Amino acid sequence: MRLLLARVLLPIVHRGSRQCTGGTQKEIRVRFAPSPTGFLHLGGLRTALYNYLFAKKHGGAFILRLEDTDRSRLVPGAAEAIEDMLEWAGIPPDESPRQGGPYGPYEQSQRLNFYQEAVQALLESGAAYRCFCTPQRLELIKKEALRRGEMPRYDNRCRHLTSSQVQEKLSKNLPFVVRFQLPSGAHSFQDLVYGWTQHDLASVEGDPVILKGDGFPTYHLANVVDDHKMAVSHVLRGEEWLISTTKHLLLYRALGWQPPIYAHLPLLLNKDGSKLSKRQGDIFIQHFVQRGYLSDTLLDVITNCGSGFAGNQIGRTLPELIEQYNLQSTVTHSALLDLDKLPEFNRVHLARRIEGTDTRAQLVAQLQPLLLEKYKDLMFDKEYIERILVLRKVHGYYTSYIYDTAFSFYFG
Ligand code: GLU
Repeated sequence: MRLLLARVLLPIVHRGSRQCTGGTQKEIRVRFAPSPTGFLHLGGLRTALYNYLFAKKHGGAFILRLEDTDRSRLVPGAAEAIEDMLEWAGIPPDESPRQGGPYGPYEQSQRLNFYQEAVQALLESGAAYRCFCTPQRLELIKKEALRRGEMPRYDNRCRHLTSSQVQEKLSKNLPFVVRFQLPSGAHSFQDLVYGWTQHDLASVEGDPVILKGDGFPTYHLANVVDDHKMAVSHVLRGEEWLISTTKHLLLYRALGWQPPIYAHLPLLLNKDGSKLSKRQGDIFIQHFVQRGYLSDTLLDVITNCGSGFAGNQIGRTLPELIEQYNLQSTVTHSALLDLDKLPEFNRVHLARRIEGTDTRAQLVAQLQPLLLEKYKDLMFDKEYIERILVLRKVHGYYTSYIYDTAFSFYFG
């Protein structure tokens, strides 16, 4: 596996970092593309982090793109909070809704014209078609399939409408969606982590909707159009999207565009192999911020699950992570996260921050206003706070511990 990866990756990474394609150099550009249907959690932070590390390692750009086309599932405040958390974690995007950038806008809801253009091109070439099937008909197809014990799939009926039938329906203002006509046969591609994958989509799925009745694109189309328009060179995303990649590549082919290189990251699971559950609430980054964890701690614990590094090692800071990160070391088995180790990781990182002159100064600046507020009568100058931090460093598991305990130890 390693050998295969080395052979595949080396030319690609090299090609990506200084690729000469017809005289133009292709830069490394990667993106983190969450849907603001919830707040940033550990799984999302991990995807963002690996993209950030890959970009920084190869002198490229890290983009944040918000995939907000599913309007019914938007969570108010989530979009801003996702970018806040990336900044908190020390991995701010180079281009984003907040930062702007040359390939904006960075929210899909602001890019409808690009999707319309692509749909138009696909309709004209015959690679896509309008589907006028009613929700009632689709429901019936689904029920029938379930009754027969089969997976429900659209029967592609509207593929066969003649252009005069289409015109007639359009003139009656009948609502429609646009579907992509899946080419038959097996299609294969090479993923940088999972190797060669082959799918015969048309044999298991009906033609997928690419433009909904409300004029918004579905994920598959928007993802392809944006990765192309934003000149994304590598797509590093969760393994759950591996199955969709064939569809994306078929869309690229139909649009006549060069696809990016794909690398899917193995799942992040609890240490007992169970799914990280968002319902428990304790995997959201905000939760760790509130409990006094340092950003370095979270990044370190996430990267100590065995992917992307030659070995595990507690205490790596972000510059060290960038330096040591290697996509070739990504393995395909799931990464098991041991959150019980968090306090120990935090203790190590807190001690490192107290040891470093600059980082100690930042910590003091963070603590001083809190201390002045808590111990109103006492004067806290910076040198004094520093001395206590250094004295209590080995005991601190949380920043809040230092604040609550180390100082009350002295001042009650
Ligand atoms: N919006 C998708 C998500 O929420 C992005 C998947 C991708 O990176 O292509 O994960």
